[in-house]
Amino acid sequence: MRKPLIAANWKMYKTPKESLAFLSEFLPLVKDHTSSEIAIFPTMSSLGYVIEATKDSNVTSGAQTMHWLNEGPYTGQTSPTMLESIGCTRVLLGHSERRIYAHETDDMVNLKLKAALEHDLIPIVCVGETLDKRQSGLTEAVLCWQIAVALNGVKGASCGQLVIAYEPVWAIGTGSVATPEQANEAHAIIRREVARHLGAPCASCMRILYGGSVKPDNVASLMSQPEIDGALVGGASLHAKSFHEIISNAT
Ligand code: PGA
Repeated sequence: MRKPLIAANWKMYKTPKESLAFLSEFLPLVKDHTSSEIAIFPTMSSLGYVIEATKDSNVTSGAQTMHWLNEGPYTGQTSPTMLESIGCTRVLLGHSERRIYAHETDDMVNLKLKAALEHDLIPIVCVGETLDKRQSGLTEAVLCWQIAVALNGVKGASCGQLVIAYEPVWAIGTGSVATPEQANEAHAIIRREVARHLGAPCASCMRILYGGSVKPDNVASLMSQPEIDGALVGGASLHAKSFHEIISNAT
């Protein structure tokens, strides 16, 4: 059985003070919650504070991106070793906003994924098609390509902790959520491709999250689909009450 994972992607929102204010409202709301794992991905400037504030709780946290090397002359970057050193346990990789605005390629996602697994950082690898590709009937081709490149050279045995998020680019921050059936179909393609590259046992225990305009009132129908194992939530995770409602409605 795959335990659901509900994750908050705070993008470039919340100062450390605002992050801590969120947690002081949110942690009491979820303190008895056991039916899913909860993770928060704050900005790099808030990450250390969030790790400290959640250390005795059922909430985990991680970085929104990282470099694949341990150190070097790369202004503005943070390495896997540095994340490990502050007690970080998770990392988002290849989010579409990183691909669009920071020009991250599938090959870079692959290097980052291998580095994350080496450092015991639990990666959430984001994949998903643009509207243009969906309308051209290329959703499956895009997903197969993104998965094949991301997993190139990754060993199945190291993948117990691998998570993939299906985030159709056209559904992110737009209010146009994929239908539960569209999402389920894409997740089934992803799982099939992971089985092809890493083997069936790895694919069957790997969680695939849906992301893109998840809200308290649509999460239950998405989670009722057999291939959907959780959610990666942007806008609706910024308020403690709505993120808590999503977590409650998801399971
Ligand atoms: P959204 O963002 O929930 O605001 O659509 C999701 C994401 O970018 O991970």
